[in-house]
Amino acid sequence: MAYTVEVADLTKSYGATEVLRGVDLTIPAGTVHGMLGANGAGKTTLVRILATLIGYDGGTARVAGHDVARDARAVRGAVSLTGQYAAVDEVLTTRENLTMVARLRRLSGAASAARTDELISRFDLGAIADRRATTYSGGQRRRLDLAMSMVVPPTLLFLDEPTTGLDPRSRDQVWATVRELADTGVTVLLTTQYLEEADQLADRISVLDGGRIVAEGTPEELKTQVAGEVVRLTYGDTAAYEAALATLRTPEVTADRVLLTVDVPTDGSPESLRRLLDSLAVAGASPRRVGMHAPSLDDVFLTLTNPKQEALR
Ligand code: ATP
Repeated sequence: MAYTVEVADLTKSYGATEVLRGVDLTIPAGTVHGMLGANGAGKTTLVRILATLIGYDGGTARVAGHDVARDARAVRGAVSLTGQYAAVDEVLTTRENLTMVARLRRLSGAASAARTDELISRFDLGAIADRRATTYSGGQRRRLDLAMSMVVPPTLLFLDEPTTGLDPRSRDQVWATVRELADTGVTVLLTTQYLEEADQLADRISVLDGGRIVAEGTPEELKTQVAGEVVRLTYGDTAAYEAALATLRTPEVTADRVLLTVDVPTDGSPESLRRLLDSLAVAGASPRRVGMHAPSLDDVFLTLTNPKQEALR
């Protein structure tokens, strides 16, 4: 099958609140798809619909070739949900947790033991295999949680903010685990607020904003949509910063009131930089420092989800 997820014109409201307003999404089998969105954008709602936990109002949604509404049972057999709230049983060890899931999934005793050993080795859990989960770090618990979701590999794995609250080293380990898992051919729908996470893990990314997909593409495609280069102006005092904002009040500009920085997308040419600095000088808004960087996914996100008015207020 070409696509693990096929969603067309999906709508969902809670009372008068329209949460999804016509979402289209296709995820090719065996790929990692990043779903980005601010708090309240509708990410969890979309995942819950695809996992058959809640219904929807309009449109169509198919997972692993099965209609989510009409064939919920088959969909449930094809998906696994994991993420922020690890399903690990705290009083059990890694070995016991994995074996328990294997037995619940009706593997025989011998098959359960073999699968447990295999997952301990693949997810690098040997050091904690026989220790109770109460003693694990957040990162170890997430890795065990991921291993548990792979006891019987699903067609589609939902990963909900898998590294929220982890320190950078644990986060890197969880990312390595997700890559490992993606290499086995499982399709992953990753929801995250961390742009770096999507950049690191996702083959393609959708940006959900106000209940609609506002952009879709590879991380690189999304970055090139924004601008050639971003010029960062750093100010030493609020008056000059405010004067710059008054001069540059265009939709593409993003600003940080605390750091006193203003980011302006440009084509990266000396002429555009000269024009920009000249107009600022005329307005009495010359910056203290000027830097340039290639657009990051942060720039993409901020540009596409349009929080500038907020930032500029
Ligand atoms: P977050 O990143 O904060 O988890 P999200 O993108 O996952 O956000 P959702 O949880 O899908 O967003 O919520 C989208 C909108 O739907 C929010 O405005 C939320 O308040 C609303 N919402 C979610 N569940 C319900 C519900 N059961 N009843 C009413 N409103 C709801």
